Amino acid sequence: MTTHAPLTHRPVKLAIVGGGAAGMFAAAVAAERRVPCLILERKARLGSKVLMTANGRCNFAKDIPPDQFLRDLGEGSCAEFVAEAVRECPPRQICRGFQSLGVRTKRMADGRLFPADEKAATIVHALGDLLRDEGVPILSNCAATAVKPLKNGFLVATKNFTLWAENVLVATGGASYPKTGSVGDGQSFAKALGHSVVPYRPGLIGLETRDPKVTSLAGRRFEDGAAKVLDQAGKTVFECRGEIDCESFGLSGAATYNAQRFIEHCRQKQDLAVEASFGGTTVRLDKICPRPLKEAIVTIGGVDTREIDPRTMQSKIVPGLYFAGEVMDIDGPTGGYNLTLAFATARKAVAGIAQKQKEKAT
Ligand SMILES: Cc1cc2nc3c(=O)[nH]c(=O)nc-3n(C[C@H](O)[C@H](O)[C@H](O)COP(=O)(O)OP(=O)(O)OC[C@H]3O[C@@H](n4cnc5c(N)ncnc54)[C@H](O)[C@@H]3O)c2cc1C
Repeated sequence: MTTHAPLTHRPVKLAIVGGGAAGMFAAAVAAERRVPCLILERKARLGSKVLMTANGRCNFAKDIPPDQFLRDLGEGSCAEFVAEAVRECPPRQICRGFQSLGVRTKRMADGRLFPADEKAATIVHALGDLLRDEGVPILSNCAATAVKPLKNGFLVATKNFTLWAENVLVATGGASYPKTGSVGDGQSFAKALGHSVVPYRPGLIGLETRDPKVTSLAGRRFEDGAAKVLDQAGKTVFECRGEIDCESFGLSGAATYNAQRFIEHCRQKQDLAVEASFGGTTVRLDKICPRPLKEAIVTIGGVDTREIDPRTMQSKIVPGLYFAGEVMDIDGPTGGYNLTLAFATARKAVAGIAQKQKEKAT
């Protein structure tokens, strides 16, 4: 690690590494709770991945009660780990929060929530404007290269300078769509600090097939599709309705993605098959070949949540080190679940730091 002399003589209270969904939301909560913070962001601007969400429309949450949200995450998921965070920052509260920033919102019949203008930039600007108004320093074009614990905080290294921070929140995202800036750095920092990282797998991604019933329809979208996951005995173990899209490589669309994610969370995934129905056609995929991780909507795997305190999002290994969002081994289905997870875990981490600050002061 190349260290320059720290930029400040006193540590900054909180350095947020990553200015995506979780990092921006964390900084907004920190401003509200009077926790001085700054953001380091690899890219020139904040929220590059958020701008891509739902084809640039940003399905930022789903209007359902927290218990249903947690049930929808499914078996073998992160539901238990995120339960407290989601209950304290449920989808409706996230929606009200954006509304209080002047974002008009739109609710679809199935509960999915979008900005009314269906522009992801509206969400990114609402958070960015708040951070500007609150005077939160944003260091853009500035990738953290290492996080080193000290007796009294951390050194956060970048190519050109080193920061001294009392607490560090790692919000660097997963490892898909690396052009958006999330390349797995936070998982590497965590590993170097003694954390385990659950191997990455693609989540919410298309499935390859050469079946001519699919390839001959490449480019066609079927909004009223359905996907089933069948076990070896032919029993349906997962079923979901939603869009099925035919592509030159195979199948995509929300129903395909959710079936693929279900399989990725199963132990005996090699024994499962997918049956997709769309436009009067049914196709069976006996061999499950997901597209590569770099194209995935979400990364399954990441910093092992067993080593993170769900009450604070603080590392159980390195005090003062916090995590939020997709850098952790958390993921949800399509429909606004993943942004909600990023927001709720970010809020939980900052609440933990604010509480610590309060206890120290009294
Ligand atoms: C195509 C697509 C569509 C999606 N649609 C939806 C949707 O409609 N609804 C939904 O809920 N979810 C959706 N998702 C998932 C959602 O975008 C992510 O789960 C969410 O953005 C994760 O938030 P995050 O803050 O953890 O990571 P990110 O938003 O990826 O942010 C991480 C940030 O950290 C920065 N960073 C990384 N390393 C460093 C470093 N070393 N130093 C400084 N900065 C660093 C990155 O540049 C990035 O800005 C979609 C994802 C994709 C790819």
